[in-house]
Amino acid sequence: MGKKPMPRPGRHKLILLLGLTALVCSASSYSCKGRPPAARRPVVLIAIDGLEWDVAIEMFRDGKLPNLAQQIRSGAFGELDTMHPSLSPAIWTSVATGLPPAQHGIRGFVKSGGKQPKLFTNRDRRTKALWNIAADHDLKSGVVGWWNTFPVEPLPGVMVAQSNATRQVAGQGANKDRGVLKGSLQQGWPHQVEPEALEDRFLALAGEVDANLDETFRRIFRKPEPTGTDAVARMWQESRWSLRADLEYERIALEILATRQNLDLFLVYFGGTDVLGHRFWRWAYPKQYQPAPDAKSIDAYGSILRDYYEYTDAVVGRLVAAAPEDAVIVVMSDHGMSAVGRKKRFDPEAPGRPPRSGAHGHSSAFFTISGPAIRSMPPVVPEELRRPDIPRLGSIFDVAPTMLALMGIPVGADMPGKVLADLIDPAFLEAHPLRKVPTHTPPGWFRKRVLPDVETPRSDERLEQLRSLGYIQ
Ligand SMILES: [Zn+2]
Repeated sequence: MGKKPMPRPGRHKLILLLGLTALVCSASSYSCKGRPPAARRPVVLIAIDGLEWDVAIEMFRDGKLPNLAQQIRSGAFGELDTMHPSLSPAIWTSVATGLPPAQHGIRGFVKSGGKQPKLFTNRDRRTKALWNIAADHDLKSGVVGWWNTFPVEPLPGVMVAQSNATRQVAGQGANKDRGVLKGSLQQGWPHQVEPEALEDRFLALAGEVDANLDETFRRIFRKPEPTGTDAVARMWQESRWSLRADLEYERIALEILATRQNLDLFLVYFGGTDVLGHRFWRWAYPKQYQPAPDAKSIDAYGSILRDYYEYTDAVVGRLVAAAPEDAVIVVMSDHGMSAVGRKKRFDPEAPGRPPRSGAHGHSSAFFTISGPAIRSMPPVVPEELRRPDIPRLGSIFDVAPTMLALMGIPVGADMPGKVLADLIDPAFLEAHPLRKVPTHTPPGWFRKRVLPDVETPRSDERLEQLRSLGYIQ
C-alpha cells in the first residue's frame, strides 16, 4: 500500500476544485479519483538553481523553510552528484533527457566557433526530453521556464519558454535610473508559448508581475533594495532580471496547475537563488571572508540571500498545494554553492565588474521526493538535520529514469543513470516492474525535428548578462 497522501496547505481548496476537474480527469488516460494506490503517478519537478544544502539545513534549524522541511518530513531526501564544470543549461538538459551533454547537445551557455558567441537554443537539443517521451505515451506535460526551451515546441500540454530574453524598462520608485531588467517573457516575441492561444494570457500575467515588481520585492526582502551606483547596487540591478523571471514563472505555473489538473508531468524552473548566491554570499556569510564586510553593509545586505530562500520555499508550498493531489513532488537543484574570493577585499566604489563571492564549487545537488508512490522513510526532524545526515542518493542522471518509472514508462538503456528504486514504494514497483527500451530517441529524430529558426530575443543583452555572472568570457 502507498502511504497516506501528505497533508498539504490548501488541500481543502483542491477538494473543491476536484468536482470541477473530475470531468477533465476522466478525459485523461485514467481517472483522478479512485486511482489505485499503485497507479502510475503524475510527477511535478520543481527546479531551484543553486539551492545549497548547507543554507537549507541552517534555515531549517530556525524553522525558516517550512515547505521544504515538509517535503523532507513526508518523503525522501539527499544529495545528488552533479557535473563539473556545473553549467546549468547542460545539467538541467541532462535532468530533462537523462543523457550527458555529448548526447543531448546542450554543452553550456554558448556555442563555440564562429566570430560571435551564439546561445544554445531548443533547436540544438538532439535527444528527446521527458515531455517528448511522455507525449509518446499519450501523457500531457507542462513545462515552464526550463533551460533551452526557446523556441517552444509542439507538445500535448503547455510550454512556456525560458527565452533568455531581456528587456529595457524604466526603473520605478527608488530605482529611478533606467535599468536593464532581464528576464523571461518578452512582449511581442513569437514562439515563447505553446499553444499559441495561451500567449496573450501569459504575457498579461507577466505584465502584471512587472507592474508590481517593486511592491513584490518589498514583500520578499526585509531591507530596502540596494540603490545608487556602487558595486552592490550594480550587483542588485544585475540580479533583478532573474527574480522577475522567477515571479513570472511562479504566476504562470500556478495558473497552469489550477486550470489543467490532467497534466501527467510538470516541470518548472527558478534561478534567483543562484543569481543572488553568486553576488550576495559575502554578506550572508561574512565570517567566511577576510576581511569581513563591515557591520553596516552586513545589516543592509546580509538578509538578501536568506529572504530569497524564504520566498522560494513559499513558492514550493504554493506549487505543492496546486499540484495534482496524487502527484509525486520532486524539488531539486543542479548544484550547491559556497564562498569564493575569501581573501579578496571588497571595494564597493571600485570600477569594473564587481567580484562574485559565491560559486558552485564542487558541491552536490539538493534533492527531495515525496508523494503517494514514495516509500515511507524513518521519521526525520528537519530542525535537527546536520550535513552528515544528508545521504548521497546517486546523481542528477538518476532523475529522468526515476521520473519515467513513476510515470509507468520504460527507461532508456542509453541513459547512464538508474531508477532510484530504494525511494519508491515496493507496491508501486510490483505493479510497474522496471522496464527498459534501448533508447527513446530513434535515429534521425533530431534531423526531422522542425523548430522555427529564430534568434533568441535580445541575445546580445543575454550574452552580457552571462558575462556578468562569469559564465562566459
Ligand atoms: Zn550559477
